[in-house]
Amino acid sequence: TQLTLEMIQEEIKKKCVELLHLQFVDIEGSLKQVTVTTEQLTDVVEGKTMFDGSSITGFTPINKSDLYLLPDLNTFAVLPWTEEEGYSEARFLCSVTNPDGTLFNGDPRNILKNTVDQAKEKGYSINVGPELEFFLFETDEKGEPTNQVADQGGYFEPAPYDLGERVRLEIYRTLKKMGFTIEASHHEVAVGQHEINFKFGDALTTADNATTFKWVVKTVAQQFGLRATFMPKPIFGENGNGMHVNMSLYDETAGKNAFFDESDSRQLSETAYQFIAGLLTHVSSFAALTNPLVNSYKRLVPGYEAPCYIAWSASNRSALVRIPATRGAGTRVEIRCPDPSANPYYAFAAIAQAGIDGVEKGLEVPVETVDDIFSMSDEEREERGIQNLPTTLGESIDALKNGEIGKKVLGEYALKEYVSLKQDEWNSYRIAVTGWELEKYQAKF
Ligand code: GLU
Ligand code: MG
Ligand code: MG
Repeated sequence: TQLTLEMIQEEIKKKCVELLHLQFVDIEGSLKQVTVTTEQLTDVVEGKTMFDGSSITGFTPINKSDLYLLPDLNTFAVLPWTEEEGYSEARFLCSVTNPDGTLFNGDPRNILKNTVDQAKEKGYSINVGPELEFFLFETDEKGEPTNQVADQGGYFEPAPYDLGERVRLEIYRTLKKMGFTIEASHHEVAVGQHEINFKFGDALTTADNATTFKWVVKTVAQQFGLRATFMPKPIFGENGNGMHVNMSLYDETAGKNAFFDESDSRQLSETAYQFIAGLLTHVSSFAALTNPLVNSYKRLVPGYEAPCYIAWSASNRSALVRIPATRGAGTRVEIRCPDPSANPYYAFAAIAQAGIDGVEKGLEVPVETVDDIFSMSDEEREERGIQNLPTTLGESIDALKNGEIGKKVLGEYALKEYVSLKQDEWNSYRIAVTGWELEKYQAKF
């Protein structure tokens, strides 16, 4: 449902909303906000709120620093944890505009909108359903996270009614009040690891939801004295945090899911196969967007349900791209490399552009890999032509710089900003002397 200004005003009155947080994300997907009073509402919705773009990572240089926030009315939500008798706060997610009113090309929301618009011109809308995993850690007296996980549960474990489960329940209640449709919630494989799934939607709404989700999970966890982290691999030797992305194209002219074809042996359409081929072709060059941290590559190792080889399969969880069993309107592909530290606006745009490029070029999908790739030898993989995903952030950045997807997704401006940020991050890691090295080498050499 589209929210109108009148509906919002009514809700503001009913819920006694006093403060409005105008939120947007920087190039890493980190949430930013400026708070105004509801008396400002009319100016606010006209996009008159100015901020200093030069103080936001990856935005504008200091000499052109004025940018404006244009709230997306549909993202209005009262924040359940602020509600008291006669008082509450609400938020909008915003697009960033230039002083002349045009959309600022360094804003991740605008960047995803570009991809959505381009797909529209080709007759498709993009549906996305991400699965974000996270850990809950205990905090110390100062409120800083420790390395103690909040519970000892394992995959799908119910009782005892532990802290982790209570936090999950409260996250569910909070998100529901904010308009989310929650489909499932469960303990994940690792100790202290959880997953809560919300309903799929169009790409922009879903990137907004992923952003809100991370914020709510962290906020609720803090109310329990815990720290939630979406860091890809917080504990060595345990499963990491993935953000599997389920995606499908909807054919606007035909009025149906473009991936479903009853007559095919797997009931997948030509478009679906070409989309998968596009993902496999471009994944190395968009990995810096879906797996943006030094730590992301410590998750992409064999044995933890995270992919490390470029292959696809209908059901094999060791493959990068999997086709969940649902068919008909729910037919979709699942790409398993992304992790939840990714900026969701960039990640969804990159995956969509890569897949659609496969469709446009009519790329051919390689043979399906039905066997467990983790247990294959290097020779076996080589024989089958199965290549590795990038193994470091450094590799990924180079591939992003040199590939065609980066520029297509981000545009020249944001690509340059992103690459320079990530290059600095990689360089600072590359020259750091770590505990692992001291342990290994100090006494011996
Ligand atoms: N935690 C796994 C990962 O790193 C995914 C587990 C699952 O299949 O949900 O991607
Ligand atoms: Mg999972
Ligand atoms: Mg999954």
